[in-house]
Amino acid sequence: MLIKFIKDIITPKKCYNCWQIWYFLCPQCLEKTKKHKSYCYLCKKESLNFKIHPTCHDDDFFLDNIIVLNHYSDKTIKKLIKNSKYYNKKDIIDDFSIYLWDLLLKNIEIEKTEDYLIIPRPMFFLKKIFRWYNQSEILAKNISKYTKINYENNLIKKIKYTKSQSKLHKSERLKNLEKSFSINKKVLEKINWKTIIIVDDVVSTWTTLNEIWKILKNNWIKKVIWLVIASD
Ligand SMILES: [Zn+2]
Ligand SMILES: [Zn+2]
Repeated sequence: MLIKFIKDIITPKKCYNCWQIWYFLCPQCLEKTKKHKSYCYLCKKESLNFKIHPTCHDDDFFLDNIIVLNHYSDKTIKKLIKNSKYYNKKDIIDDFSIYLWDLLLKNIEIEKTEDYLIIPRPMFFLKKIFRWYNQSEILAKNISKYTKINYENNLIKKIKYTKSQSKLHKSERLKNLEKSFSINKKVLEKINWKTIIIVDDVVSTWTTLNEIWKILKNNWIKKVIWLVIASD
């Protein structure tokens, strides 16, 4: 903690957009990056933060909510996310964690924290070894700390290495993800009739969300909410 404090004084964070210190993305610039239209996942009509309109819900619907901070096409957002993943700049993830926390509370009224469980988007273990960390895990842990909602790392496992979904044709995406996730039976009692908040950095295709939801819905959960930094 002290080392981090000293480091912050010597080389303070600077906003990628306006160079203001103490932030990688200052609140003013965050607002400026929100110029892209966001839309409801189901009807594709405009909706703030990509939220699904309450009137768009139906029985076959596989996600209860998607809460997105920003659009991935924004250059500053894209650069920040890329740097947070590949250049070991975990501090960027800390800034985004605070913004996601704020966004979650604006969108969901949490009465009892024990009705919820926060999990990261699962990453294949080899991928994690090569990158040293799973950025979704850091985000999810931070948000769990701020909200006091329990965090579970091992609920869903990615058991197969898959090609990047965004590079594949629509018809290949489902096949690519087939049997690639599994649920950990040992922690099932922890999810009994809870709302699961899955935290992720970028959602580029919705097939992954669907696959994870299919596994969760067979295991006595109440709802699934995706909380992400950016969507395509
Ligand atoms: Zn700024
Ligand atoms: Zn809609």
